[in-house]
Amino acid sequence: TRFLNSLAELDDSVPASHRVQDRTKPAEPMPTDSFKNAADTDPAIAANRAWGDGILSRIASSQLGNETVAQHTITTEAQLEQVFATANGPGASWRQKSAAERAEILHRAGEVLEARRAELMEVAASETGKTLDQSDPEVTEAIDFAHYYAEQAKKLERISGASFVPAGLTVVTPPWNFPVAIPAGSTLAALAAGSPVIIKPAAQARRCGAVMVEALWEAGVPRDVLQLVNMGDRALGSKLVSDPRVDRVILTGGYETAELFRSLRNDLPLLAETSGKNAIIVTPSADLDLAAKDVIYSAFGHAGQKCSAASLVILVGSVATSQRFRNQLLDGVASLKVGYPQDATTQMGPIIEPAKGKLLSALTSVGMGEKWLVEPKQLDDSGKLWSPGVRDGVKPGSEYHLTEYFGPVLGIMTAKTLGEAIDMVNAIDYGLTSGLHSLNSDEIGLWLENIQAGNLYVNRGTTGAIVQRQPFGGWKKSAVGAGTKAGGPNYLMGLGNWEIAPTQD
Ligand code: GLU
Repeated sequence: TRFLNSLAELDDSVPASHRVQDRTKPAEPMPTDSFKNAADTDPAIAANRAWGDGILSRIASSQLGNETVAQHTITTEAQLEQVFATANGPGASWRQKSAAERAEILHRAGEVLEARRAELMEVAASETGKTLDQSDPEVTEAIDFAHYYAEQAKKLERISGASFVPAGLTVVTPPWNFPVAIPAGSTLAALAAGSPVIIKPAAQARRCGAVMVEALWEAGVPRDVLQLVNMGDRALGSKLVSDPRVDRVILTGGYETAELFRSLRNDLPLLAETSGKNAIIVTPSADLDLAAKDVIYSAFGHAGQKCSAASLVILVGSVATSQRFRNQLLDGVASLKVGYPQDATTQMGPIIEPAKGKLLSALTSVGMGEKWLVEPKQLDDSGKLWSPGVRDGVKPGSEYHLTEYFGPVLGIMTAKTLGEAIDMVNAIDYGLTSGLHSLNSDEIGLWLENIQAGNLYVNRGTTGAIVQRQPFGGWKKSAVGAGTKAGGPNYLMGLGNWEIAPTQD
């Protein structure tokens, strides 16, 4: 008797008719011992556009629109006890499987996630308002995590002189902003490393988490090994992460949440990817057309609700003193089509909940010496649909400079030199992603040498890290207890311990 035996127990499981099994692109043969990134859906192919239209019409007709109407079973205290007992009882048998056996199941998980791409995108749109162009790469990333960690697990076993011991019971607490890729990535990593997992999806994205879990079960991950819970109140949620039976917690969320987790149990073995306040610097040598496009996508993709989003652009020298780049930004931002995801023409969707607190004030007022280049407007009564905002004149040390808002607002700062711009970035407490647009190799070298952030992007936007190519993770207040990057060669190492093998005589 476990808490959840099948998704049929969820009263809102997605009807079979909504599950698109066939994608229109020919599948690439899956490499067995080398990793190759999966592909996003190519909209240049007419059949793929028809496939996307099918998803859009299902979103529109599901009456979910942008509302989360799904009701989910909330775990009781007695059930949570049972979940812990199962994870540490039958669930612990997972570590007996060889890395090759685990890898086989994970590779299959990648295939099931691919087969359920449309369903995952549909649910992501319904629950979080994510547009299809944002959720498609997210499903790709989840698939990549499956195949990549499968291969990494096998490599761990091959390191001689030491043996890798799985951490044990791992609790995964993902965010709602990447409701597929992050729950999948954290879960798949812990499973690859040989640990049983309890996942608690974000409250705003429970159905996404449930579909992802169902996909992994379908692929052959035993239900004792991967269990799903939904917490109805804070006390039980606290118990879930701080119970002494928990051996690892993987959190992606705000820095305050990581601090809260730590306050619950001071020896909590936590791997947390936390907040960001990221900037793109644009120097006079930059390709300004490319810079404007990358800044706009990094700032307003998924309405700025990414830890990796750029919410500052720092203009250097003549880029700062002339109006040219500002005009390019203004044209691009003002032309963005804002709407709901079921409308194919939508380029920027809604925010997750009605704007409040510091985000509301960032959307409705400017600080001292600042002025709107593009003023954000509330577009309907939901409180969630806002046009994007760009504020000029952000001053070093100001509130806007240093605060994470997690919404569709971009601030412009100016610097006389690249060095001054780098200092402005490094003055921020967080250090997740950082961007530079420059075609000058000396500038690029100076920036790479001095910038304090985990993921550095030159002449590219700051969002959309690709598994293996751009392992993802930050430093300073953007990471707590982590130190290894998701989708990179060292991530699994943080999910276990090393025992030195006795020397053979
Ligand atoms: N990995 C995502 C990216 O590179 C960001 C994840 C997050 O927002 O937490 O855009």
